[in-house]
Amino acid sequence: MDLSVVVPCFNEARGLHELRDELNSVLPALVGRFEVVLVDDGSTDGTLEEVRRLCSLDSRYRYLSLSRNFGKESAMLAGLHEANGDRVLLMDADLQHPPWLVPEMLRLLDTGYDQVVARRDRHGEPRARSLLSKLYYLGVNKLTDVPLQDGVGDFRVLSRRAADAVLAIPESNRFSKGLFAWVGFPTATVPYRNVTRKHDQSCYSFGKLVNYGIDGVVSFNSTPLRAAVYLGGAVTALAFAYAVYVVWCALAGHPGVPGYATLMVGISGFGGMQLLLLGVVGEYVGRIYVESKHRPAYFIKEAGGLAHPAAAQRV
Ligand code: UDP
Ligand code: MG
Repeated sequence: MDLSVVVPCFNEARGLHELRDELNSVLPALVGRFEVVLVDDGSTDGTLEEVRRLCSLDSRYRYLSLSRNFGKESAMLAGLHEANGDRVLLMDADLQHPPWLVPEMLRLLDTGYDQVVARRDRHGEPRARSLLSKLYYLGVNKLTDVPLQDGVGDFRVLSRRAADAVLAIPESNRFSKGLFAWVGFPTATVPYRNVTRKHDQSCYSFGKLVNYGIDGVVSFNSTPLRAAVYLGGAVTALAFAYAVYVVWCALAGHPGVPGYATLMVGISGFGGMQLLLLGVVGEYVGRIYVESKHRPAYFIKEAGGLAHPAAAQRV
């Protein structure tokens, strides 16, 4: 198998036939044998029926259906496990990862890279969202030791050894963007213009994106914990200096009137700081808790396709 295409699908019933048309017009000219692994991530809009239909028409298509919605990270992992190709292409189902970019990506991969990642600009995105993303990447790259690039997502081709490296990472709480960067290997980047979504809305609400952002920071190192220690230390030192000053004032005969404002600022300042630090610690403890349970990242409810062993038995 020359190429496996892994596509996580959550409520994508409306656009899948279009994706298939596009893939079928691009891929046959590029590679000898390819397979497309569609992963239905517990969709509720008939995606599974559509996926079954597509896979019954074309023997190059296979599918997995997860037992519930586990999130894109888990769906991609399931697809990666299933992929047999010498090269693995990861792409979204909504055509925001344009198939016409694939020839260039594969060409680059064949010049000796192990990963070729597509990098989009933020064309057509709400101003606020792209500004927030920019700020986030600025901050996150100061905090973590794997470089994360703005606009670089999961649209990428991996060589077999890069795919195996990603699969060898056992953690179930995954932040793929970082994991891909973390495994290393020679990596090339292909820029492209952002494509806005045709059908529906993004599956990611603002809240989900904020959570994803926090994952990005704490999945990769403990710098925030270290920062919390320094911050806590600095504030404690300031408080101590202030106490010394108050005692000195009293001894020097200037007791002054204890200020209500100072008190309030002090209490709320320290309260806030402690909550913040507790939150940071909690993030890590929570992660240890989740990982220590060793839960699988997903369960497969159903798998099929003409080339699937189960289909061969049915015939
Ligand atoms: N997706 C998924 N599970 C989820 C959410 C999303 O498999 O819980 C898939 C979705 O079907 C799409 C891809 O992940 O193929 C990216 O989702 P979306 O387009 O909503 O995200 P965005 O383009 O905003 O990053
Ligand atoms: Mg999308």
